[in-house]
Amino acid sequence: MNVQPDVSFINYLKGAGGDTLKKCYQCATCSVRCPLSSDEKPFPRKEMIWAGWGVKENLLADPDVFLCHNCGDCSTYCPRGAKPAETLGAIRAYAYTHYGWPAGLAKLATSAKNLPMLIGIPALLTFVFWLLSGAMGFPTKEEFATYGYTHFFGHWEFKWYAKNIFFIVLLTLPPLALALFSLYKGLTNLWKAMAAEANIASTYRPSVIQFTTQFLWPATVEIFKHNRFKECTTNTDRVRGHLPLMLAFVGLFIVTSWSLVKQDILGLIWPSLHGPLPLTDPFKILANISAIALIFGTWVLWSSRSKSESEGKTSRTFYDWFLLWMIMAVGVTGLGAQVLRWINLVEVGYITYFAHLVTVVMLFLYLPYTKLAHIAYRTTAMAFERFRESSFAKPAIEQPLKM
Ligand code: SF4
Ligand code: SF4
Repeated sequence: MNVQPDVSFINYLKGAGGDTLKKCYQCATCSVRCPLSSDEKPFPRKEMIWAGWGVKENLLADPDVFLCHNCGDCSTYCPRGAKPAETLGAIRAYAYTHYGWPAGLAKLATSAKNLPMLIGIPALLTFVFWLLSGAMGFPTKEEFATYGYTHFFGHWEFKWYAKNIFFIVLLTLPPLALALFSLYKGLTNLWKAMAAEANIASTYRPSVIQFTTQFLWPATVEIFKHNRFKECTTNTDRVRGHLPLMLAFVGLFIVTSWSLVKQDILGLIWPSLHGPLPLTDPFKILANISAIALIFGTWVLWSSRSKSESEGKTSRTFYDWFLLWMIMAVGVTGLGAQVLRWINLVEVGYITYFAHLVTVVMLFLYLPYTKLAHIAYRTTAMAFERFRESSFAKPAIEQPLKM
């Protein structure tokens, strides 16, 4: 193997949690202890070798980097304190920036020193839309009690489409569309890199239906069941936090989708559907339960991370904490805004709601570049894991690599 080390990459890893990388003396204890590693394709020892050599391209095309669930078993049992789990985390963070698009935005989301801009851009966007709506200001207590936040961006007499919904869609849809496009580009490039690294020719492509039913769907089901997470032996708290957090996102996705259908489609036929949901509405109940699950799950992960850092098992990184802060902010501002509405505190409620919109835009806008991107990258790697063992890939492996 002709090794061409990328020194700047090694330095990046050292500064992003892989500072103990050079302590590794290749004993392979980590690969033996890793509950997710297989005898045929063991990890993370090989990743530790590659990281030490600085062979960036191999690591960026390595599905095992994304198959790792960051449980920390390997770091706990490493006799040299080399923290392989941290190194893999740092490689994943690098990969999200590498595959992210546009490159400038991807780079912006990697450093704590950019925080003023990371918060400032969504805050400015929300402020500008509030200004443009012509509704900037606070309602009376009576108006607030009647309409809640459904007149935040104002109200017009055009009964087919509520002004508030129009502005919320205008504010949130472009960041979400950008994030989805960025993920599409990133995941396509990751797949190509993984296929090239595994020497799989593109001759035997599955159809969309085959890909979905044979690879993507089984991977998604496995993720939902948390089977791999449950194999962790040292940090079981992570399942207690990750599961409610994931279910909270699913719940909020259902509520948001229903809200869009109700307001944007059904509302065109029955304009009376515009307006705040009553507390007893099943979707409102689901939204509130999801918000509580979101805060609870984040809090468990937050506590687990803090404990692990204070015990010296993991390093403190912007990559980990930025996501925890962002999700906690979404949950607290969302639930807080609702409580403030119940007790009819107009000004604080409106400011909290403004902050909630900012955090939602942040979550959408930075989705492909932060730790949240693991939702898409890990699912893709798990689908690829099945693909490379399938008949679509096997005949191609024996063939010369096609470029
Ligand atoms: S990271 Fe630790 S356990 Fe793994 S090979 Fe290196 S020294 Fe051994
Ligand atoms: S963090 Fe857990 S899943 Fe990842 S390599 Fe280490 S032991 Fe395996």
